[in-house]
Amino acid sequence: MADHVPQEPYRGLPSSEGWQLSFGDPDVAPPQPRVYPLTAGDTNSGGLTEEELAVVFAMTSRRPEPFVEIAQQVNTQKAADFHERWVLGYGHASVAEHAVLHMAVEDISRLACDTLEDNRLASYTEKSSRYQVLPRYAYHVPDELPLHSKARRTYVETCDHLLQTYHDFMTQASIYLPEEMPRRETETEAGYSQRLRRVVTDNCRFLLPAATLTNVGVTANARTIEHLIQKLMSSDLLEERRLGTEFRHRSRQITPTLVKYADRNPYMERVRERQLHAGVQLKGEPEDTPAEVTLEHHDPDGEAKLVTALLFRSARIPYRQVWERVQQMRPARRLGVVADTLAQMGPHDTPPREFEVVDFTFGLTMDYGAYREFKRHRMQTYIPQPLTVDNGYVVPPLIQRAGLEGQFKEAMGRAGDAFHGLATRHRPVAQYLVTHAHKRRVLSKMNLRECYHLFQLRTQTQAHFSIREPIEQAMRLAVEAQPDLFRHMHLRHYPEWWPFDQRE
Ligand SMILES: Cc1cc2nc3c(=O)[nH]c(=O)nc-3n(C[C@H](O)[C@H](O)[C@H](O)COP(=O)(O)OP(=O)(O)OC[C@H]3O[C@@H](n4cnc5c(N)ncnc54)[C@H](O)[C@@H]3O)c2cc1C
Repeated sequence: MADHVPQEPYRGLPSSEGWQLSFGDPDVAPPQPRVYPLTAGDTNSGGLTEEELAVVFAMTSRRPEPFVEIAQQVNTQKAADFHERWVLGYGHASVAEHAVLHMAVEDISRLACDTLEDNRLASYTEKSSRYQVLPRYAYHVPDELPLHSKARRTYVETCDHLLQTYHDFMTQASIYLPEEMPRRETETEAGYSQRLRRVVTDNCRFLLPAATLTNVGVTANARTIEHLIQKLMSSDLLEERRLGTEFRHRSRQITPTLVKYADRNPYMERVRERQLHAGVQLKGEPEDTPAEVTLEHHDPDGEAKLVTALLFRSARIPYRQVWERVQQMRPARRLGVVADTLAQMGPHDTPPREFEVVDFTFGLTMDYGAYREFKRHRMQTYIPQPLTVDNGYVVPPLIQRAGLEGQFKEAMGRAGDAFHGLATRHRPVAQYLVTHAHKRRVLSKMNLRECYHLFQLRTQTQAHFSIREPIEQAMRLAVEAQPDLFRHMHLRHYPEWWPFDQRE
């Protein structure tokens, strides 16, 4: 494969004439595969804009020339006309996927960040509450609460108290912790203080309200950005609507045509409102001991479906006939098919796509801090209930051991009272006061391939304990329900209850 990368615009690349001549002509060498970057803004690529680049790629559908030649014929106006006609006019939205945007988003609430990150076809990296100590006054104050109102004052006092307690706990836990976690002989001073700090931040983050500010880097294509803007602008929170407007303004500087009509979407607003009313009517039965994690649905035919899919790929007969053969197989033979597939899988490899034919649906109740990590797994379908203080909260273990439980509960009590005070008149806004300790219910449907990824990643000891525990429970339920699907899954750390020989 040619490794030539153009250093100057299009110089040294074969022309379309030579490329076309080569067809069926024994005297002309056939075209060789070629890979080269066309990068927006790169002068070697002709200084294309993101929108021009998207047109260059779209035009290869109908044009025989190499991309670099098509690029020479595209300019800003032509690109805008193309997008107006094809993407916006005829709805060929996939063209917009070739225009990529990087957005730096700073000082938004964690609540707004959840909505921003609720777009699975994008990439995010967010400020971590595990690796950073968050500033005392860095929280969002919603403008839905009128200036000088009692509601606003209560809101501010509650956030101040939560963040003040967070900082006090950071100090007190840092003093307490070395008693129970002495320095290891082999450990450097810097390594030791980093280890201490991680335990302290992991435990103190429970006090942070959803109003706490965060930064997030977003990389997404223009199609996803348009959807993201619509979603934000259709929100019931002013902060999110403003964020959507700003996103649109900034995105238009990069892809002026592709996000031109991004706006609030009445359909999205209606769906949200209708669902809210429909769900609220449902009356529940009191639960004595509400389970934290339940396996709501799984497919008893899961193993047969997986084996059939694995054999189907190389079979030369229809799916139905492969399925019938699998029904007749002995269990050991079926297991052998799965074992063979996974035999060489290393710690960073993923099972093949066939593992996506089997689904599991879990009901999870986890603290908001854990939820924020959980929802970052984009291959699942997750459906959260609104943030509330009514599902109770978690008291982090270090806070208990350090004798800070009383102060912690007082802070939770204040947050709970303020939440209820606000919720009667400003239900969406009250969510800002829910802390990372408060529990949230979420429904999650994921396929077996994502189960492997999630279970492997989030049950390892480096994972935060508040997500490690529910994910281990989910894993246990899935393994107990369908052991043969997990018999050959490799984990970094096997739990005590693991039912198989770890080398299977
Ligand atoms: C110990 C630890 C620390 C972390 N610290 C931070 C942090 O400080 N800040 C932060 O923002 N996040 C952090 N994360 C979250 C992490 O970066 C991931 O966003 C999160 O775990 C989701 O997992 P995932 O990206 O592997 O895949 P999922 O979204 O679960 O998708 C499953 C798999 O699909 C593929 N995939 C999905 N989407 C894409 C895509 N767009 N492009 C290519 N492949 C894709 C990948 O193979 C991926 O592994 C941390 C995670 C861990 C475990």
